[in-house]
Amino acid sequence: MIEIKDLHKSYKMGSNSLHVLKGINFKAEDGELVAIMGSSGSGKSTLLNILGMLDEADSGEYVLDGIPIKNLNETKAAKYRNKFLGFVFQSFNLINYKNAMENVSLPLYYQGMGRKERNEKAMKYLEQVGLKQWATHLPNELSGGQKQRVAIARAMAAEPKLLLADEPTGALDSTTSYEVMDLIQKINDAGNTILVVTHEEDIAHMCKRIIHLKDGVIVEDKKVKQVRAADYVQQG
Ligand code: ADP
Ligand code: MG
Repeated sequence: MIEIKDLHKSYKMGSNSLHVLKGINFKAEDGELVAIMGSSGSGKSTLLNILGMLDEADSGEYVLDGIPIKNLNETKAAKYRNKFLGFVFQSFNLINYKNAMENVSLPLYYQGMGRKERNEKAMKYLEQVGLKQWATHLPNELSGGQKQRVAIARAMAAEPKLLLADEPTGALDSTTSYEVMDLIQKINDAGNTILVVTHEEDIAHMCKRIIHLKDGVIVEDKKVKQVRAADYVQQG
């Protein structure tokens, strides 16, 4: 699914340059659920943004689903992004004047899908995240956990090959975080490949593999026994 080799990234600031990624190597197979950990500023978002084709590495190789991602023009990059990738962010990034269903259906609109079909699909994905009844509600009428579930439904509605989540539980309390992780685990159980950036140990252990970033390199990469979030979610 993903293969990266010797990835480097620096940010230039005036005459200074900050070397953030200093040779990252890793592979992720189809169906993996990987946590990317590291302290604040360790380059987690930088790495995720490169994997998500929102940013480009300075050097190194990145192969996504067999396709070398290099020197793509913006049209091609956008096409691959739409086809391959789903994003979930800490701050949800919902459009506040559109209701839940419209938020979920928006990427489908950009894929050129007709109104009826995209709304039906949006409803199907809202139902999967347990929010069918909230379809006509605006984001400010939803709790943080509900907003993140809408964001996950929006990402999944486009049927990405890879779901990238940057601190998806970072703005949520623990109970709500576990509900979101329960959903992420179920999506992974269904076979989807997911990368989750987090700096919380308990969240990382709800993944199947933990990669630790430090000072621009991977200092640890281990398989873990997955803690099931459902065991920590209050039933009923
Ligand atoms: P993390 O997500 O692990 O907190 P980031 O990848 O966001 O870390 O940032 C890594 C380092 O790069 C930080 O020191 C940050 O300040 C810096 N950085 C991130 N984005 C930019 C940018 N666009 N321009 C300059 N510096 C940046
Ligand atoms: Mg970050």
